[in-house]
Amino acid sequence: MAKLLAVSVWDDILEHVRLHSPHLARTWFFALEPTELAGGVLSITAANPPQVRYLNEHCRRTFAEAAQAATGRLISVRFECEGQNEDDDMLAFEDDGSLLKLSDDYLFNNFITGPCNRLAHAAAVAVAESPGKAYNPLFIHGDVGLGKTHLLQAICHEFKRRRSDANIVYISCETFTNHFIQAVERGALHQFRYRYRHADFLVIDDIQFLAERERSQEEFFHTFNTLYQSQRQIVLSADCSPAEIPSLEERLVSRFNSGLVALVDRPCLETRMAIVLAKTRLRCIDVPKDVIKAIATHIDSNVRELEGTLAKLTLLSQTRGGHIDIDLAMEALGVCAPKPIISIPEILNTVSKRHNLRLSDLQGKKRTKSIAFPRQVCMYLARELTNLSLEEIGGYFGGRDHTTVIHGHRLITKRRQVDPELDLELQNLQTTLKNGS
Ligand code: ADP
Ligand code: MG
Repeated sequence: MAKLLAVSVWDDILEHVRLHSPHLARTWFFALEPTELAGGVLSITAANPPQVRYLNEHCRRTFAEAAQAATGRLISVRFECEGQNEDDDMLAFEDDGSLLKLSDDYLFNNFITGPCNRLAHAAAVAVAESPGKAYNPLFIHGDVGLGKTHLLQAICHEFKRRRSDANIVYISCETFTNHFIQAVERGALHQFRYRYRHADFLVIDDIQFLAERERSQEEFFHTFNTLYQSQRQIVLSADCSPAEIPSLEERLVSRFNSGLVALVDRPCLETRMAIVLAKTRLRCIDVPKDVIKAIATHIDSNVRELEGTLAKLTLLSQTRGGHIDIDLAMEALGVCAPKPIISIPEILNTVSKRHNLRLSDLQGKKRTKSIAFPRQVCMYLARELTNLSLEEIGGYFGGRDHTTVIHGHRLITKRRQVDPELDLELQNLQTTLKNGS
C-alpha cells in the first residue's frame, strides 16, 4: 500500500468507484495498489497488462473522479503493471483496428457451465489447450445471447496466454467479407491472402454472414484449407448449425462439420441462477439469494437479458440508497413486457385435438407420417412459443435428442414458407395457444 496515501483514502476511492460506477467495478480492484502520488498523478499498479488495458479503456475518469472526491484535490490517475509495456500488449490484437477487441471479462473462469453448454465449453477448453490437434475446426452455434462470443474470446485469451508471439486473427465474418471486397476492388488480393493465410489461429464470429456471398465463400474455402492443412486452429461461431446457413456451399458445410460442431442451448433454471450469481460477484454487487432466484426464474431465454436486468436493478438500487431486495427486483423485472406462458402439455393437447390423435401417439416412437408430422408441428411450436431448451423439448417427446428437435423445427419453418395452408393452420394454432383456449 502506498506510503503517500492513507489506507482509508484508498478505501474511499474504491468505495466511490463501486458506488458510482458499479457496472465498471471488478472484484480484482481490491488487489490494485496505489503506488505513488506525485505531481497530481496517482499511480495505480495492477497485476497484469489486461487489467491495465481494461482500466485505461474504461476507468480512467471514474478513478480520477473518485480520487478527487476522496482527497479533495485535483488528481489524475495512471495505471501500470510490472514488467510489461501496455502498448506491446495492445499491438498483437489491435493491428489496424479491424481485429475485434477482447473483453477482459470473457474468460473461461467467468463462464458458467450446465447441460446447455457443457460440450461447447469442454471443446473450447480442449482447443485452447491443444490448438490444431483437439478439434479442428471447432464450430459453436446457438441462439443469440447464449455465450458464443464469450467462448470464442476465452479461447483467444488462452491462446494469447500460452503463445504471446502468435498471430491470432479474431474477427467478425463481416470484416472478413468487407476486407475481401476491398482487396478485390483495390487489386490487393495478395495482401489479403497473406494476412489471413498466415494466421496461427483464425477465430471468426458469426460466420452465418457468409450466407449468399458466393465469392467470399470461395475465398474462405481456400483460406480454410490452407490453415487446416498446416494444422492451424480454426474456431467459428454462428447462430445456426452449418447445414442451416442459407446457401452455404456444400463443400464448406462439410468442412465445418469435419471437426466438432457444438451447440450452446438456452440455460436451465439452475444454470441461470449460477450465471446471475457469478455476474453479481464479478461486479461486486451484493444480491440476496431470493432476488437471484427471481431474476433467473423470470428471464428464461437469454443470458444477455439476465445481465440487462441485473444492470437495471443496480441502477434502481442506487437511487434508493443502495439496498437490493425482492421488491426492488420485481420492479426491475416489471419493466419487461410480460410474456404469455405456454407449456408443452398445452401445445400437445391443442395439436392432438386438431389432428385427432392421442397424446401417447405424439409422445411415442411411431414414425408414420400422420403422427410424425403433427409431432414436428409440436416441436416447432414448442421452439417458437416457449423458452425451453432443445433438450427439455426433446424430453417431452420420448427423450428425443436436440438434433431431432432442430430437424423438426427446420422442416416446419421451410414448409411454412411455401405452403399457405400450413401457414394458416400454424397461425391459428399459435393464436389459440396465446389466448389460452
Ligand atoms: P452470443 O455471442 O451467443 O450472442 P455472448 O457471448 O455475447 O452471446 O453472451 C452474452 C452475454 O452473456 C455476455 O456478457 C456473456 O458473458 C454472458 N454469458 C452467456 N453465457 C454465459 C455463461 N454460460 N456464463 C457466464 N456468462 C455468460
Ligand atoms: Mg456473439
